[in-house]
Amino acid sequence: MPELPEVETIRRVLEPQLKGKLIRQVRLSRPEIISAPTAEEFCRRAEGERICSLGRRGKFLQIELHSGAEIVLHLRMSGCLLLAPKEYPLAKHTHAIFELEEGEELRFSDVRRFGRLWLLAPGQEDCTGRQKLGLEPFDPQLTPEYLQQIWGKKKRPIKDCMLDQQAVAGIGNIYSDEILFRAGIRPDCLGCNLEEEQRQRLAQMIPQTLAYFIEKNAISPQEYLDGGGRDYRNTPFLQVYGHSAQPCPRCGSLLERKVIAGRSSVFCPACQNFLGGS
Ligand SMILES: [Zn+2]
Repeated sequence: MPELPEVETIRRVLEPQLKGKLIRQVRLSRPEIISAPTAEEFCRRAEGERICSLGRRGKFLQIELHSGAEIVLHLRMSGCLLLAPKEYPLAKHTHAIFELEEGEELRFSDVRRFGRLWLLAPGQEDCTGRQKLGLEPFDPQLTPEYLQQIWGKKKRPIKDCMLDQQAVAGIGNIYSDEILFRAGIRPDCLGCNLEEEQRQRLAQMIPQTLAYFIEKNAISPQEYLDGGGRDYRNTPFLQVYGHSAQPCPRCGSLLERKVIAGRSSVFCPACQNFLGGS
């Protein structure tokens, strides 16, 4: 499932290629992927627009258009955005095709079909859910004090707190495990039991870890296309996620897996020894 680093990778790969391009036509094979306005209206308004830039907020991608309108996308579980020449083989489950100039197409595919698109007119009230997002992980306001304010009273495990998009936007199951490993905190430590030192480490490790994985995911446009937009090059650099029952890369102890708030967490019982509240 794409989290912030993967969405940021898509943004970085596609933005230089999409900038200034005209959307000639939009074709939808599954109109239900359009959340707002109606599918018909979506196509009508997008056609004839020129793409200004590609932005990101949390795990949302934002295609900013010349009129000031924007197309907002959430990839959810398995959404994928590709820019391809029109003769390039069409991926299965391609639900939307934006025909651009010079025989190129921007294609949205999604096996699980949870991904959604919106088109917002300039100044229109946001109905995407973006307005409820918490701070961006790279926001300088993400300080130990902010973490105290949002998590200081939470009687929920820190793993669960980190997945809450209204606190910090963009972190999912993979990177919460990686961040907690680097910070030496057990995923089942309650938010209210964090101490100043742990909050400081988290405030540092959240942006540092995500920046590291964005960097490791760097890919050229051709490689991105050849990999169908799913070639996540940072996977070999994951230290704990997906490594349950394997030795900890730092101390050699066996990594453990525990289900917390319905999500699987992998952690090192030796390195991640902070549980607090004793
Ligand atoms: Zn360890």
